[in-house]
Amino acid sequence: LHDVSKIYKSGDRTLKVLDNISFSIETGSTVSIVGPSGSGKTTLLGLCAGLDRSTTGTVELHSTRLNGLTEDQLAAVRNQYVGFIFQNFQLLPTLTALENVMVPMELRGEKNVKSRALDLLDKVGLAERSHHYPTQLSGGEQQRVSLARAFSNQPQILFADEPTGNLDAETSEKVVKLLFDLNREAGTTLVVVTHDLELAAKTQRIIRIKGGKIVEAS
Ligand code: ATP
Repeated sequence: LHDVSKIYKSGDRTLKVLDNISFSIETGSTVSIVGPSGSGKTTLLGLCAGLDRSTTGTVELHSTRLNGLTEDQLAAVRNQYVGFIFQNFQLLPTLTALENVMVPMELRGEKNVKSRALDLLDKVGLAERSHHYPTQLSGGEQQRVSLARAFSNQPQILFADEPTGNLDAETSEKVVKLLFDLNREAGTTLVVVTHDLELAAKTQRIIRIKGGKIVEAS
């Protein structure tokens, strides 16, 4: 990110949520973004992942400059590089766990989708829950479905927004292990937004933001 700012507008009001942020994240590394509630962490993650656009400044992902890309081009970059774990899971409620993992694979026109989705659910320990709907799964199980879905394109970069936010200690440990295994085994770059200082301490770098500015970066 180079000099990135994000301004939200609603009516004639403007809110500067990110103020001149610059940093780079090395391929294959693990980084956490921490800071108080409302400091702009989720917004920042969305910009890095190409889910949203900065108001000023530039964002580059693997040497592709995201500013100025069309929606379709942005989606192609995300499909190629990015996995994203949302704070509130964002599973489709009318689809089973298995179908939730299959949908993005089908959208990408991939093959052997069902068996690969089952393998992914097995990896997160949910093979036996594959036909359950999100409402029939606990918070931790829904989070693990969302992890399986995020792993489905073997992303080079995984962005995770509060991956342990709603989980008990035991489930949280399992989820964290899955994230770091992926980093170690596949070299996936891991960028986590978290309030969980134990999780943050496990990453190689910590970027702390407050009021939309970086106040500390290791
Ligand atoms: P938390 O730790 O509580 O999840 P956060 O650090 O992730 O917070 P953001 O979700 O990035 O913070 O929000 C930063 C600020 O931007 C907040 O004041 C929020 O109300 C505001 N904001 C976020 N999204 C929008 C939007 N789409 N339109 C207007 N304001 C927004």
